[in-house]
This record gives sequence, structure tokens and C-alpha cells, in this order.
Amino acid sequence: MAIVGKHKLTTTERGYGWTWQKVRRVVLAREPLCRFCKEAGKMTVADEVDHIDGNSFNNERENLRPLCPPCHLKRTARDQAFGKHQWRPEWLRPSTIPLVIVCGAPASGKSTYAKEHAGPRDLVIDLDVIACSLSGQSLHGWDRAKWLTPAIRARNEMLGDISRPTARWPRAWLIVSEARADNRQWWADTMKPERIVVMETKPAECMARVRADTTRPRESTFEAIGKWWSAYERREGDEVVR
Ligand SMILES: [Zn+2]
Repeated sequence: MAIVGKHKLTTTERGYGWTWQKVRRVVLAREPLCRFCKEAGKMTVADEVDHIDGNSFNNERENLRPLCPPCHLKRTARDQAFGKHQWRPEWLRPSTIPLVIVCGAPASGKSTYAKEHAGPRDLVIDLDVIACSLSGQSLHGWDRAKWLTPAIRARNEMLGDISRPTARWPRAWLIVSEARADNRQWWADTMKPERIVVMETKPAECMARVRADTTRPRESTFEAIGKWWSAYERREGDEVVR
């Protein structure tokens, strides 16, 4: 599922990494022709692998189908109109209460920062916490294939809540990874936060924390940390924490 448009998601956010490349090769070896074209009676070599349910973390065999690039594009455009995975929902409005957005790589200390600075009645919006409470699984080990879509939906509802005039929290804290400057700019323009804080915790330090924490999946988190740092750009106006 290629995402087009000006607010492109990073490959890590979409769940694509080196393991994905392996999965993709296996699918294409098993079924080399575009499934849509084949159904329409045409033989076209498939070049891409599509997630049927739109969840790029669900790599179950029956959720994957090979497509040619034109068919994939058509199907992705339809999906985006349908709005399955809204990391940055277009309908979001500025927050009516003071909002701080905390960004950074996995294990960079975003949640700890929010916890240390938030007041007792503040609202903290953290996808891991939401998924953990929805699924009953661990904070960092929840099954993304199953819980990502409902967790994002619940998070977006909370973001909707803080943009209503009826919002009563003294302050909200939103935790998102957002390595790219243009993506943080999108949040700045859309939600009008009072501050955006970026945790510039060095990759070695993040990785050491992951090693010390048995609840975090190691390889995928290391990979996500590397991806975050390779995509990271500073943005004027962000507050950097080192
Ligand atoms: Zn096709």
C-alpha cells in the first residue's frame, strides 16, 4: 500500500522494513501475476504486494495479494478515500486546550517526559497506552496486526475530543514519533499546539534502554530507532531535549 500525497508516512510508521522485503519476495514468488488483472482476464506481472485489510503490520498470508503498479495505485487511492489508517486525520481541528506534542524515536523517553511534566488532571494521548488498554497486552509488545487500527481510531477520537469547546482537561500531551520536519509541521499547523518537544536521545542510548527492557521486542525496535534517526530533521520552533 503505497501512500501518496504531501504527508507521506515513513516506512517504519507503515510497518515496512527489511522483514517486509522478505515477505514481499515470498508472496511474489508464490503468485507472480497481478490478482486484479488475472480476475479481469489479463496476464500482468505483479510487482507489488498489497495488504488487503489496509493494515501494513498484518503480514498474514491471506492478507497479502500481488498487484501490478497501476492496480495497486487505484486500490490505494480508493482506500485512502475510505480512510482506514489515519495517522494524521485530515478532519482534525486545532486543540481548544493547551497541547504539547512530544516526538522522538522508540525508547527515547517521550512517555517519561510527558509523565514528568503533566499535571494530575492532564490528558496524555499515547498510542501504546491506548493499544495496551484495548488489547490487555503489554505496553510495547501489543500485536500491531490486530490492534493498530482500533488503537489509532481510539486515539483519533481523543484528538477530536480536545478540539471541542467542551474539552475540560487543563492540558493535553500527545505522543507521536514523527521524525520528519514536514510531518511535525503538519501537526503544528493542524492542532496548533503550544509546544512541540523532540527527544533527541542518541540511538545508542535508545538501544541500551531497549536491551534493558525485556518487554520490548528487540529487533523491530532497533530497526525503528535506526529508521527514525535516518529520517530525522530539525524544525525551527521545536524544543529539543537532549
Ligand atoms: Zn493489475
